[in-house]
Amino acid sequence: MENKMSILGVEYEIVSPEELNAGEEQIGGFHDGFERKLFVAQHEVKEFMRTCLLHEALHAMFFEAGFENYSDDEKLISALEHLLPKVSGEFKRHNLI
Ligand SMILES: [Zn+2]
Repeated sequence: MENKMSILGVEYEIVSPEELNAGEEQIGGFHDGFERKLFVAQHEVKEFMRTCLLHEALHAMFFEAGFENYSDDEKLISALEHLLPKVSGEFKRHNLI
């Protein structure tokens, strides 16, 4: 996985440690908008890592757009993580992106 990603023109570093823990719980990822980092734990299933990266990039997108309340809304981010690829696939099919 490339280790840089532009989020609304701001360069984020993608950090992919073997595992991530939040207290006792193992987690797939998190984002740090102040340090401009997206953390995504390594996983043998690439699709899982891709979904985690999209999730963290969506947090960062709202953060960079100045919508910190949306950035902190896990329900909204989780919904978009699943819905966005379906819609963007149609845009690609119609050569709109
Ligand atoms: Zn999240």
